[in-house]
Amino acid sequence: MTSLVNVMDGLTTRGELVEMMAGGVVRCLACAHRCKIKPGARGVCKVRFNDGGELRVPWGYVAGLQADPIEKKPFSHFLPGATALTFGMLGCDFHCGYCQNWLTSQALRDPAAEVAGNLLRKISPQEVVKAAKRVGAEVVVSSYNEPLITIEWAAAIFKEAVSAGLKCAFVSNGYATPQALAYLAPTLAAYKVDLKSMQARNYRALGGVLQNVLDTIQLAHELGLWVEVVTLLVPGFNDSLEELFAMARFIRSVSADIPWHVTAFHPDYKMTSPGRTPAETLVQAAEVGKEAGLQYVYAGNLPGRVEEYEDTHCPTCGKVLVRRRGYMVNDYRISPAGTCPGCGTKIAGIWPKSTILTKNSTQKYPYPLY
Ligand code: SF4
Repeated sequence: MTSLVNVMDGLTTRGELVEMMAGGVVRCLACAHRCKIKPGARGVCKVRFNDGGELRVPWGYVAGLQADPIEKKPFSHFLPGATALTFGMLGCDFHCGYCQNWLTSQALRDPAAEVAGNLLRKISPQEVVKAAKRVGAEVVVSSYNEPLITIEWAAAIFKEAVSAGLKCAFVSNGYATPQALAYLAPTLAAYKVDLKSMQARNYRALGGVLQNVLDTIQLAHELGLWVEVVTLLVPGFNDSLEELFAMARFIRSVSADIPWHVTAFHPDYKMTSPGRTPAETLVQAAEVGKEAGLQYVYAGNLPGRVEEYEDTHCPTCGKVLVRRRGYMVNDYRISPAGTCPGCGTKIAGIWPKSTILTKNSTQKYPYPLY
């Protein structure tokens, strides 16, 4: 039987985000681990490896290809109601005990995830974009696994997508390098970053360094990417008032216009002891975000139970501009110029050119494409 590692090693190409070093050693620059990899060895993510002095990186397959509402990523200020053709590969550079996607993210790192090999489908960047066109997607998104570790593949798809008139987005843990962001910037429009905690100790437990994520949020914003930040609130892990304020204040220090999504956890993978995040915790976190000066705060994963925190409000006059329930957009009022029709305030984000009621209130999601 062919093992998953052999199958995946066969679906690779030469990496571009790399620095060549003496003795055939390579330094991978795709994520902030910046692995120094000797010939025959692998990086922390396991999916990038040194083959005789050449960095090999994932290429030519998807482990998931699905049309989703953009609200599911989640993005609230990036083309609300758009269909997002979303693709993912396998692997991750973190090992979060509460990962909600662990079967795909922990491939090659956890033997229990070996079955993820059944999800692999060979495909070309052109075929991914054709699928996006076929389902009427306006956006192509790299998600499901950590897209930074498969960045060359995402960039190839994004190049095709931009040529076809589509916009592109990343759904990522934000563990990027300046080189990775510069590599993506020509084709990427929007970057969703998970800010998992403000405690260095918590990030160490997940497999990373907090400052690198904060730097990504700052740099992606400076590069002009549309950034939204998401925090999955895990009871007892990152939901103290002190920590919520620290997260909100940091985002505010970058820009009050960055939307912050606080979303509900459910027990998964290795973290089965804390219960689900109560709706009250989400509402309290959203209130903290407002108090810290953020203009746009959203509470997710508990539709209908989080008061007004699913909707977009004008920060000046308070008018409801986008009404949502879960991933559905039920009403949309922002003008084609991106302003509040009540008071004319400019609403930060990337908005549709027309104000017709967005279509995801009627489409059935998700629909897998293979
Ligand atoms: S993507 Fe990150 S974890 Fe993987 S080899 Fe490169 S630097 Fe290491």
